[in-house]
Amino acid sequence: MDMPIPNPAILARKPELIDRLRQVMPDDAIISDPVATRAYECDALTAYKCPPLLAVLPANTQEVSDVLRICHDMGVPVVPRGSGTSLAGGALPTEDSVILGVARLSDVLETDYDNRFIRVQSGRTNLSVTGAVEEQGFFYAPDPSSQLACAIAGNIAMNSGGAHCLKYGVTTNNLMGVTMVLMDGQVLQLGGAYLDAEGYDLLGLICGSEGQLGVVTEATLRILPKPEGARPVLIGFDNNEVAGACVSDIIKAGVLPVAIEFMDRPCIRACEAFAKAGYPDCEALLIVEVEGSDAEIDEQLGTIIEIARTHNPVELRESQSADESAKIWLGRKSAFGAMGQINDYMCLDGTIPVSQLPFVLRRIAQMSEEFGLDVANVFHAGDGNMHPLILFDANKPGDLELCEEFGAEILKLCVEVGGCLTGEHGVGVEKRDLMLDQYAPADLEIQMAVKDVFDPKWLLNPAKVFPLATSDTRRIAAE
Ligand SMILES: Cc1cc2nc3c(=O)[nH]c(=O)nc-3n(C[C@H](O)[C@H](O)[C@H](O)COP(=O)(O)OP(=O)(O)OC[C@H]3O[C@@H](n4cnc5c(N)ncnc54)[C@H](O)[C@@H]3O)c2cc1C
Repeated sequence: MDMPIPNPAILARKPELIDRLRQVMPDDAIISDPVATRAYECDALTAYKCPPLLAVLPANTQEVSDVLRICHDMGVPVVPRGSGTSLAGGALPTEDSVILGVARLSDVLETDYDNRFIRVQSGRTNLSVTGAVEEQGFFYAPDPSSQLACAIAGNIAMNSGGAHCLKYGVTTNNLMGVTMVLMDGQVLQLGGAYLDAEGYDLLGLICGSEGQLGVVTEATLRILPKPEGARPVLIGFDNNEVAGACVSDIIKAGVLPVAIEFMDRPCIRACEAFAKAGYPDCEALLIVEVEGSDAEIDEQLGTIIEIARTHNPVELRESQSADESAKIWLGRKSAFGAMGQINDYMCLDGTIPVSQLPFVLRRIAQMSEEFGLDVANVFHAGDGNMHPLILFDANKPGDLELCEEFGAEILKLCVEVGGCLTGEHGVGVEKRDLMLDQYAPADLEIQMAVKDVFDPKWLLNPAKVFPLATSDTRRIAAE
């Protein structure tokens, strides 16, 4: 994976940059020691690493604005960072860039239960948003598996999803407004505590913009009353494709579960060893969860079980208690950590039409044999968001490159069957060079023209999203 050559003129001005930053923020918010900056050298895509020039940790919108204005004046690139859990290398620094971390912006600013919203600083973690409102019987719906650690800032930048997004939508469906600082220090308010803003949907543009357009410092989020109850059912199959066909049939039948999660045998075994969730040992497992009153749950599960039976499941087990439900979900939500105990892996994030699941799973199995690398599949099957985990050995020369090549072929397959390169993890550096497999040059030109408006000097989050050869002219002209 190529990155631009660091600009020696910026590297030489590090002492001047530190002096100027000290005028606007406390010393302990500026991390310049090369050993300490290594804490920011990568995100959760650990295959790629590069310590930044500096890291800064502002505590409010004004400090973010001051930092950006100084970096803008000096032509220094800035990489916004939430909690660094991106699986796409979205928060990967360059040697000549400043990491702007929002971890200190973690306050709740306002809660309004009558109008069902909460306003928070963007560094607040996803799970602690629900934590702030659950006593009043509310929750924040988007639930990435990383929700204990990841920040609302990163969720907005990546338009993150999670297991329950089949019913509640992803971040964009639950975001009402943001405060965002442009690279030149200007502060913008977009949207607010109402249904939809007049004019262009700029909020929709910001959500999923991967730190390319501005730094989000505050967010107004929709909160929802907790459902009366929820119950998952485990459905085991002796064949991946049959499990894929069952998902397709459940969706076709018009029932709307909150989640349909899929795991194949390697993943089931790893999760069971890790979380002791009581998973059966079979080829493929679905977790299907529905919500509502007891009567509503019984009715929906009745339909789902009837459909499942037509696919000859080897296991059909409805959760009998809140404890059992929690265990089932703990197993699934531990999947990435559990796989990490077995081997190095790269987690992909393609999206496909649900009806293509059986075909795509078959092709991935064939490709796994062709490339000689094992794959474990775990994904949000209900909305076609696949997460094949390719296992490789980072210490074996050539294995990472082979894994990257295999991953690229899987993502191209997703595009070929009518899907796209990313469902929820974003493009980052990981899928940057595949963007031309998804978009015509004219489409990318329009997307880059949007960045020109927000960040004319192309200083925010450099070398992400757009293939370097496509964005070179703009980046170099802006230097
Ligand atoms: C174990 C594990 C499980 C995961 N499960 C899921 C899942 O179920 N669903 C899912 O969607 N993702 C998942 N992820 C991926 C990741 O957690 C999400 O992409 C998350 O939203 C990243 O948040 P973060 O705060 O860590 O952002 P970071 O990794 O710090 O940054 C992500 C992107 O956001 C940008 N950014 C950060 N802060 C700002 C800001 N203030 N303003 C503008 N841009 C900003 C960065 O520049 C970068 O491009 C998982 C990751 C791991 C490690």
